[in-house]
Amino acid sequence: MEKSFLKILQGYNSFRDKYVHGDTSILKHLSDSGQRPKIMVVSCCDSRVDPALILQCDPGDLYVVRNVANIVPPFQKDEGYHGTSASIEFGIRFLNIEHLILLGHSQCGGIKALLNKNNTVKYNDFITSWVSVLKDVETTSQDIDEYAKASIKKSYENCLSFPWILDKIKADKLFLHQWFFDIKTGEIITYCDATEEYQPLTLDSES
Ligand SMILES: [Zn+2]
Repeated sequence: MEKSFLKILQGYNSFRDKYVHGDTSILKHLSDSGQRPKIMVVSCCDSRVDPALILQCDPGDLYVVRNVANIVPPFQKDEGYHGTSASIEFGIRFLNIEHLILLGHSQCGGIKALLNKNNTVKYNDFITSWVSVLKDVETTSQDIDEYAKASIKKSYENCLSFPWILDKIKADKLFLHQWFFDIKTGEIITYCDATEEYQPLTLDSES
């Protein structure tokens, strides 16, 4: 059997050993009581940026939507198939998420595609259109990582175009966070509104 496929089968066995077996299993509890995550993450599909793994979470901890380049599109109530917006609506309006984390990352293939620095996806059916949400972010930098950081801010601003997100922020029932994950160092930096700069995420970071 292919090595990478065998790895996921072994992983499945480990998962069941850890989370399923026994009456006090986390999954049985979550099945009985339902999910009540307080944290939502919007992250990229990139295989190196798995929020649950990076943040060492258990089932039920995180409500996650992943898409190319971790984009929150603007609020558009039309006939389109708005998968990310539907996920956000479910999390914010119906699960009553309290913290929405926009998690960008270094070396993002979606940002590379937007900046025409990724020849392997030059001709595509959906990617160029999707990442065009980020074409007018506030930066003059063509550096992929700097552009990715500016893109998080764009998604943050797009969040504010959702009326029920804005209402919850104003009522202090929802807090937005702009995080950036560096793949090489494994470090997360978080955007600070007061200083308008990124700083390392620590146990003292804003809650
Ligand atoms: Zn990415």
